[in-house]
Order: sequence, then C-alpha cells, then structure tokens
Amino acid sequence: NVVSGNNFLRTIVKEDIASGRLSGELVTRFPPEPNGFLHIGHAKSICLNFGLAKQFGGRCHLRFDDTNPAKEEQAYIDAIQEDIRWLGFEWSGPIRYASDYFDTLYDYALHLVRNGNAYVCDLSADQAREYRGTLTEAGKNSPYRDRSVEENLALFDSMRNGEFDEGSRVLRAKIDMAAPNINLRDPIIYRIRKVSHHQTGDKWCIYPTYDFTHGQSDALEGITHSICTLEFEDHRPLYEWFIANLPVPAQPKQYEFARLNVNYTVTSKRKLKMLVDESVVDGWDDPRMPTIAGMRRRGFTAAALRNFCDMVGVARSEGVVDVAMLEHAIRDDLDKNAPRAMCVMDPLKIIITNYPDDKVEWLNAPGHPNRDDLGERSLPFSREVYIEREDFREEANKKFKRLVLGKKVRLRSAYVLLAESVVKDAAGNIVEVHCSYDAASHGADPEDGIKPKGVIHWVSASHGKQATVRLYDRLFTHESPDRGGEEFLDHVNPASLSIIEHCWIEPSLADAAPEASFQFERTGYFVADKLEHTSGAPVFNRTIALRDTWGK
Ligand code: ATP
Ligand code: MG
Ligand code: MG
Repeated sequence: NVVSGNNFLRTIVKEDIASGRLSGELVTRFPPEPNGFLHIGHAKSICLNFGLAKQFGGRCHLRFDDTNPAKEEQAYIDAIQEDIRWLGFEWSGPIRYASDYFDTLYDYALHLVRNGNAYVCDLSADQAREYRGTLTEAGKNSPYRDRSVEENLALFDSMRNGEFDEGSRVLRAKIDMAAPNINLRDPIIYRIRKVSHHQTGDKWCIYPTYDFTHGQSDALEGITHSICTLEFEDHRPLYEWFIANLPVPAQPKQYEFARLNVNYTVTSKRKLKMLVDESVVDGWDDPRMPTIAGMRRRGFTAAALRNFCDMVGVARSEGVVDVAMLEHAIRDDLDKNAPRAMCVMDPLKIIITNYPDDKVEWLNAPGHPNRDDLGERSLPFSREVYIEREDFREEANKKFKRLVLGKKVRLRSAYVLLAESVVKDAAGNIVEVHCSYDAASHGADPEDGIKPKGVIHWVSASHGKQATVRLYDRLFTHESPDRGGEEFLDHVNPASLSIIEHCWIEPSLADAAPEASFQFERTGYFVADKLEHTSGAPVFNRTIALRDTWGK
C-alpha cells in the first residue's frame, strides 16, 4: 500500500535519453557539506540522486562540499558515509571532495582574471552590501572594478600568499551590477580565510565560494544532471555563466526540486546542531532527532525511509509533508517484517493456583502471524506470570475485553485464565490476582464452550528478563516549529522521552541483536538500542505506537 509519488526529474532524464542530449551515462552526485549530520531532507536527496543513477544504469558520486572549513569536521564526514550506506546506497568511485579541485579552481580564477572577467575588490562587507543594490534598485560598480589585469594578478597572488587580513579583500567575478538577478552582481568567488582545512591543512588561506566551486566541480567530474533544491534556482544563471566562461571539460546542467519539509520537526542542520549544543537531545543520533542516524536508532528502517521518499515524490512546488505519512511508511514496513514478541511494562502478578509449582512448559508461538519464514519462538509458561496492570479490573462492563474478576481471558499463544480473587496491600492496591487455568485450552476453545472475549499479552515471572524501555514522542509540540526566528526551541515537547525501567520481556528478547526490530504485541514497534542494549541489561526504544491514522 505504498504509493509512488511523481518524479519530474525521472521524466527529464527519460526525455534527455530520447532526444540524445544524454548520449552516455547519467551521472549525478550527492554533495553534502560536512557541517552536521544528515537529516530526513538529505534522505530525499540521496534517494533521488542515487535512485536515478540506479534506475538508468548510471553513476552517483559522493562529493563533500567542503569550501567552508571553519564549520566542517571529520566526524561529520564519517557519519555521512555511514548514513548513506545504511540507507542502502553506494557511491561510484572514490569519495570526492570539492577541496580536491582547489588547485584547478585557483587556475580557473586566474583564467577569469586574465580575461578581464574577475577583479580584486577592497570594499568592506558593509560597503559591498551598499553597492550591491536591492531587488528594485540596480547596484553600483565597485571603485576597484576597473583594475588592470596585471594589478589584479598581483593582488590575487598576494591574497593567496597571506599578505592581507581576512575580510580586507575578495576576488569577484565581473558580470553586471545592474543585473536584475542579484547573484549576477559581481559575486564573490574567493575570500580570505586564515583557517586550517580538514583536507588541505594549511595549504590555502583563500577559499573559493560555494557558487564558484559547485558547477566547476560538477564539470570536472562529468556530472550530467546536477540536482539541487529550489533556493538555488536564482543561482542557475551564475552556474551557467561560469561554465560558459571557463575552460571546463564538460557542460553539466542544474535542475532544482522542492526541499522536503515535514511537520512537527525541523530540517536544518543549523537548528539540529542547536538542539545538540544546548543538550535538548543527547546527541545527533538521539532517537528523537530527524537525522538519519537518529531515525535509525529509533528503529526506523532504511527500506521504510526509501519508501517514504518514493511516496513523497519529487516536484518543484514547496509543501509540507505530514509526519503521519512517514509514520505510516515505518509501520507498513515493520508490520510486514518485524517479529512479534511480548513485553509487560507495568506488571501485575498473576498466580495460577491450579498450575503445579515446579512445572514449566515451553509453548510454541509464531514469530509472525503471516511470515512462516520468521519461524517460531518458544515461550516458557509457569505458575506465576505478569500481565499489564491496566489489563485487569475487579469489575468492568462488556467493553473491557480483558481480565475481570470472575471472567475469562486468553493469554496470547497460551491458556485461558479465570480470575478468582485478588490480594491487596494495606493501602488497598492490588498486588496479585489469583486465577485458575484451563489445561485443555492451549490452541483450543475451552471445554465448556465459553470463549473468552479478549486476548492479552503476558510474560512468565520466573523466566522473563527485565528490560529498560524508552518511549519516544514527537520532539516538537508545534506543527511548524521553525516558522519565524529561533523560537523553535520554545516548541520542544517536554515529554518527548519517558524511560520505563523493570519491564518484563520474554527471555529470548534479551538475546536480540542491537538494532533488531520487534512488534511488542498490543503495544507498539520497538528496537533493541544500537548502542546500549546488551543481553545482561536489555534496552528497547519504542519506534512507534501501533495505531495508524494516516489516510483514515
Ligand atoms: P541544511 O540547511 O540542513 O544545512 P543544506 O542544503 O545546506 O541543508 P547540504 O549538506 O548542502 O545541506 O545538502 C546536501 C544536499 O542535500 C544538497 O543537494 C541539498 O539540496 C539537499 N538537501 C538538503 N536539505 C534538503 C531537504 N530538506 N530536502 C531535499 N533535499 C535537501
Ligand atoms: Mg548546502
Ligand atoms: Mg546548510
């Protein structure tokens, strides 16, 4: 029941093949800046770029867009690679870095200077802003715009040699200060930044801007379709101007699509970094984060995320996707693939008075109701079991299809119980329920013909293991937490995490591999925590509750 959304870029590639514009391989790239962990929006870009390459038998490169060394880190480079692979994709060839091309980009800058297409400008940032003009008002030429080629070459050389302070000079393309598109008003192509770079060390103290780097890197790698988000639409004329004015080896084309926005969350690395830096969450991979690493730890599966991206489709119109659609994709995948298990989170002890004290039976239960390939599991049954406290009442009306004093209920995959009496403590709290069981009712209706109305989950008190269960809820209470300024932090849900200790799980769950997913029957989907789960101290994260309301 996963429906594919439209993808206009697939149509463009098909047309390019049909018209012969694309005669060789389709080559795309995924170009993250290593300044944070990837989020759900990046998952869409990954599925799009790697997905198109796969569909058309082409290649997709991974290129770190690393022109801003001050904000970038090796730890992010490592995490990004792990996330892409986990999502199920592999890049073609080596990992590439925009910084691999710094020498060539420098030569390209010299080429522009020599052709009179770039100049060194001494305006301060504030002055440059004034000269730039506005959307309704043309800009003014910089007083440095008419420097001679020789003077520009000498100044640019001095910039490169570290002779000037940061911010004192920039290299600008000489295009048109009256262009209606502000991106064409002599954009900066190099700035002085006296910082070490994670790849190139201290080799450079001038760094190319994103705009000067991106298209040329695409051309150097033979990218045929350079796909980016809509905010770069206005940069496309500049992208094309550089390609037209430089001796590049290929002619890539830029295409834009709408970013993925999901309600109840934020998709901006800068904001996600604030959540980490201000300890609102326990790190980039906190299971509440919309990062790929966080969603993975939460128990979202790679297949579900790929399906979700497919359902969303690729369009040019901005919109906000309902998080319920993402949750639907997760449930759909887990319902089909997650083995069933039982966990009691708020235990109430049941004593089965007619069950022998020393007896233990191992009852077979299906791993999954309609997946024989998931095999069977073996459940120990004994005189004492735990059920959920909320599954018992001394008195109740017919709507309560669980255990009631004097009535019957079936324990899932086991026997029918009849509740006979309760034991209370001094304060009047029920501490035990005494029941009898019908020994002939395993896998069969009770002999008296009265079928119990309900089926509840349970765990043997003598064999169950104790576990910590973490229940996660949405991180934000507001539908659009990041509309406006920084107040998105005010919308953080104070109850996004509840930790429940001493839950009882069926014993085999303790041996679950980290990252194994289960449906805890009647409760929700859970995953053994990637980092903290051990057989001695099991830890499960709730991926998502059972109830699906999307499309209902
Ligand atoms: P952020 O604002 O979160 O830092 P970004 O676009 O600056 O995002 P990059 O590392 O430059 O992050 O992104 C790598 C690729 O992922 C780019 O091609 C970018 O367009 C794409 N991308 C980023 N966010 C989204 C999104 N929300 N939806 C779709 N694609 C996205
Ligand atoms: Mg970017
Ligand atoms: Mg960014």
